[in-house]
Amino acid sequence: MEENRRKRNELLAYKVIKGLKSRNMDAYYAEDREAALKKALELIPEGSSIAMGGCMSAREIGLVDAVQDPKYRFIDRDKAEDKRAAMLQAYDADVFLSSANAITEDGVIINIDGNSNRVSAIAQGPKKVLFIVGMNKVCSDVDAAMKRARNVAAPINAQRFGLSTPCAETGSCMNCKSPDTICCQFLITRFSRHEGRINVILVNDDLGF
Ligand code: SF4
Repeated sequence: MEENRRKRNELLAYKVIKGLKSRNMDAYYAEDREAALKKALELIPEGSSIAMGGCMSAREIGLVDAVQDPKYRFIDRDKAEDKRAAMLQAYDADVFLSSANAITEDGVIINIDGNSNRVSAIAQGPKKVLFIVGMNKVCSDVDAAMKRARNVAAPINAQRFGLSTPCAETGSCMNCKSPDTICCQFLITRFSRHEGRINVILVNDDLGF
């Protein structure tokens, strides 16, 4: 059964990759977390400055630990005294690590954000954006992807950060305008004008939320 599920995910991943490439984004398949980490490190030249938005998937494959190595220049916003300076530095990073809240079978990437530093850096700034995406994030179309972002990813993230939002209480989106909302900005990445800027590693595993 597990083998069948993995095979189905692999076939679906190739469909997503075809969609991403048609949108001028680079995409790769990784059969597991180890393969994903290896591929990610191949895509990050030594000496790169690296920033990240909240990216649980990158943590789960070991990438966040790996880029703390002195051969990279990791911009750690959590540890920075001047968080605004670190955020501005992130916009000029060589590589920005991110996950996706959802991705469609034809390669459209959906992200929602409260502070909006993540979606703004995905849209513009860092020279390369590297998405680590588990197959649990794949949805049939943009509608389904938005529903996933707001009814699966958002409630879990709201709970994780102790935010006072209706979804943290009910487990699904109530379309709130609460001060803590994490749905300030929705980013739909449907094409990249810049060759090689957006890179996606699709991992045949469940990652993140
Ligand atoms: S709009 Fe509000 S209730 Fe809906 S997912 Fe976003 S934070 Fe949660």
